[in-house]
Amino acid sequence: MESRASTTLMSTESRDYVCPQCGETSTVTTSPYLHTFRYGSGESAVDLTVELPLRRCGACEFEFLDDEAERLEHEAICRHLGVLSPTEIEKIRKSHGMSRATFAQVTGLGEATLNRWANGVKIQTLANDRYLRLLALPLNMQRLKRFGSSAQTSSSSVNHNGGKFQALNESDIVRHQQGQRSFSLRKAA
Ligand SMILES: [Zn+2]
Repeated sequence: MESRASTTLMSTESRDYVCPQCGETSTVTTSPYLHTFRYGSGESAVDLTVELPLRRCGACEFEFLDDEAERLEHEAICRHLGVLSPTEIEKIRKSHGMSRATFAQVTGLGEATLNRWANGVKIQTLANDRYLRLLALPLNMQRLKRFGSSAQTSSSSVNHNGGKFQALNESDIVRHQQGQRSFSLRKAA
């Protein structure tokens, strides 16, 4: 088992923190708190140390950690595993100006999966992490977009209902339509 310390820059944005005990907002101050926690189990277990923002309410003296601490802890785990953090994954998506739905469609990654990564509910596998790193390169994304648009035109015959008979029926329909070319519905100019 090894021990690893990491320093993290805490966000300096000013916002009002609400004391969960007494509900006061103006009395909450923040100070750095060095937190060590165990990650993993057995021989692969490590102690990770991360600096967290500890909030303290001046009115009732209640001390608490919030969602920012949760995010920083999760990022420490991602750093330890050598994978992209949720913020870094989102940065890749946003660099292409894509919504999560579009990003999911182009990359073949499920939208639900992307949501779980972004919320820190799940951490991507090493294979997906490497895939994501390749997706950061604009040229790779352009290729995927082109691949996606050509795959979509042919996918209707592959995905529709699956079975052989369905596929035969579909090609029948196509042939039938082609045979009807003389009965064009296009209006005469
Ligand atoms: Zn309080």
